[in-house]
Amino acid sequence: MKKIAFFSTKPYDKEFFEKYNQGHEIDFYEVALNEQSARLAEGVEVVCAFVNDKLNAAVIETLQKSGVQLIALRCAGFNNVDLAAAEQANIKVVRVPAYSPYAVAEHALALIMTLNRKTHKAYNRVREGNFSLEKLTGFDIYQKTVGVIGTGKIGGIFARIMLGLGCKVLAYDTYHDEHLMAIGVSYVNLDELLNASDIVSLHCPLTEETRHLINTEALDQMKKGVMVINTSRGGLIDTQAVVEALKNKTVGYLGIDVYEQEENVFFNDLSEEILQDDTLARLMTFPNVLITSHQGFLTEEALTQIAITTLQNISDFEHQRELTNEIK
Ligand code: NAD
Repeated sequence: MKKIAFFSTKPYDKEFFEKYNQGHEIDFYEVALNEQSARLAEGVEVVCAFVNDKLNAAVIETLQKSGVQLIALRCAGFNNVDLAAAEQANIKVVRVPAYSPYAVAEHALALIMTLNRKTHKAYNRVREGNFSLEKLTGFDIYQKTVGVIGTGKIGGIFARIMLGLGCKVLAYDTYHDEHLMAIGVSYVNLDELLNASDIVSLHCPLTEETRHLINTEALDQMKKGVMVINTSRGGLIDTQAVVEALKNKTVGYLGIDVYEQEENVFFNDLSEEILQDDTLARLMTFPNVLITSHQGFLTEEALTQIAITTLQNISDFEHQRELTNEIK
């Protein structure tokens, strides 16, 4: 059985991993993995990391010196790992490529519905005895045009959900999914999608190519008052550019579950701290911006699948079986 150093532990991680663990020895650390904390992995062969753990060359070098042989990501995205450094250090990297894509697609829908019908504001109003409907007007989602950027597992389900609501769905992806086309999704180029969509939702991975895909130029092409939704990775949006677009009302609604500089903020209770991120503070002042702190994955089904697949990845490594979820 393997000894595992588990970073960025939250109570729900511990609950689900302890439920499904069959004999591995897991040291749960609340601290995130970075240059300082990497030495906690001394003498351990497996490190388990999440989205905001830093796995740059310096951290990987420390892990290698500590004897780490496997990095088991308990997430799908791997933009936080220097894969070249891991290969050079002879450390294998595995991930959970799919764990209830419904969880994230449905969270994108939750952001849209909340921003549109303002249920978060209505809830607070009614609790305070204010039964006025002033400024709560929304719009029918039915027959609106929704642009889906990235139609993989999550984007594909999101597209189906929006078709179910009676929307016209446009998609942009380097790969065209025939099943989606058969049920009415139209693939178009990015310019056309940005021009025509009432709602734009991001579901592609963060790569060098997609970093700041939504920049000033892209925002200028969008319909006045567009709703922009990002449940993928913060770096897909140039945050300064979107702040400007909110100020000049090009963007009418912004719903984000991810944020470019989320690393030291999201997942933490900072309610008694002074927020140091002025851009995030500015975003929080807009009445038409809804921010959730990377909770798209947070469902019973997704947490179960994350724990089962991660522990299976580690057992496969232990028994020298083929690593089906290895990132190369
Ligand atoms: P996936 O690999 O199944 O799909 C990604 C799609 O994006 C693919 O169809 C791919 O062809 C497409 N794509 C790649 N480069 C593109 C580009 N330049 N332009 C347009 N399309 C491009 O991945 P998935 O499981 O659907 O996950 C999508 C993303 O969601 C992940 O990369 C991850 O960052 C994010 N995610 C977020 C959460 C959360 O909790 N908010 C949870 C899981 C995943």
